[in-house]
Amino acid sequence: MLIVQKYGGTSVGNTDRIKNVARRVASYHARGDQLVVVVSAMSGVTDSLIRMAKELMPLPSEREMDMLLATGEQTTIALTAIALHALGIPAVSMTGAQAGIVTDGVHTKAKIQNITPRQIKALLDAGNVVIVAGFQGQNSKGDITTLGRGGSDLTGIALAAALKADLCQIFTDVDGVFTADPRIVPSATKLDEISYDEMLELASSGSKVMQSRSVEFAKKFKVVFEVRSSLGDNPGTIVKEETANMEDVVIRGVSFDKNQAKVSLIGVPDKPGTAARIFKSLADASINVDMIVQNISHGSSAPSTDLSFTVDKAELLKATHVIGGLKQEIGFGDLLSDEAICKLSIVGVGMRSHSGAAAKMFEALAREGINIDMISTSEIKISVVIHVSKGEQATRAVHAAFLGPR
Ligand code: ADP
Ligand code: ASP
Ligand code: MG
Repeated sequence: MLIVQKYGGTSVGNTDRIKNVARRVASYHARGDQLVVVVSAMSGVTDSLIRMAKELMPLPSEREMDMLLATGEQTTIALTAIALHALGIPAVSMTGAQAGIVTDGVHTKAKIQNITPRQIKALLDAGNVVIVAGFQGQNSKGDITTLGRGGSDLTGIALAAALKADLCQIFTDVDGVFTADPRIVPSATKLDEISYDEMLELASSGSKVMQSRSVEFAKKFKVVFEVRSSLGDNPGTIVKEETANMEDVVIRGVSFDKNQAKVSLIGVPDKPGTAARIFKSLADASINVDMIVQNISHGSSAPSTDLSFTVDKAELLKATHVIGGLKQEIGFGDLLSDEAICKLSIVGVGMRSHSGAAAKMFEALAREGINIDMISTSEIKISVVIHVSKGEQATRAVHAAFLGPR
């Protein structure tokens, strides 16, 4: 069997953990399987590299950030290969570029354009375990790019697709995908399976157990994968195409995202083209906007309105910079930003066929006296923005309302 395994930051967090990974890989190798092993940077390393760069400058060059952050994964590929050699197993480490991962040129969140795994295949055929640096690729100019935070998941899934692997396993520090983050909701339970769409909505609304772009990729290329623990042998969660009985459950999970920030523009002239101008500028700067709320306009001679939207905290400075630059042209009043918010979401394909989920969610929040600031919905998700200080309490209350005890 050809197996792609991805190990996250905690799973390679120190040399003992790396030895543990090597032992697991060795056991598959001993069965005669071919293995491609994708590893992340050791836990905390990417964050600490970002911190150092920001000590030098608040908005560092994105090209240089990619050069810097890619070093985290390069440390772990070499250490993992060495740990395998220590067990007598032939292993070769490769950077994203060496593995043939070609991306577009959008530094810090590049998209994979194509993968040519010729060199990986040759090394596998010669009997090696191939260790690939997660989270990185190379653009057409030959510069190193990275695939967005949590991007090693994408490397794992994309390689499984390109190599047509028989099995794709994402090893992490929890037993699988739970009904909520088990660190926030101790009574959350592990799911045996989940559909791509539900996993995608959970991931894009804060459940960092999988990077959302990696799930999108898996859905597109029909890569079935398992999320499981690197610290034990319990079976994990299978992520796959939706099956008929999945709609029986209304809510599959609850997610919580405190990495969001809100930007508000006060007194925006209410005329055609303004919103387009604002959001086009943000898109041109590759800033992802999540929720958008526009108030009813006030004033009759020169009507104006207030507009709020949310972005990733990491992009707040860039977003306020971009919007600040439009102040003269658009002629809005104040530009406010608020980092003290979080987003809470419920997700389930069952919402398509069962009504009342929104009411139940809002009631659960009302019982806790929690105020809702913004609301957005999709076919299988309802999200609210609330004050960050209430986030964990709200997550537990909403989880209890839909999925059982606190
Ligand atoms: P890795 O370093 O292996 O990529 P991450 O830290 O990125 O691991 O993701 C695993 C973490 O995701 C868990 O430790 C857990 O706290 C968090 N998490 C958030 N939501 C969920 C969920 N619904 N199910 C499981 N884990 C979750
Ligand atoms: N090291 C990168 C990060 O921390 C990629 C990953 O861990 O998946 O975001
Ligand atoms: Mg991760």
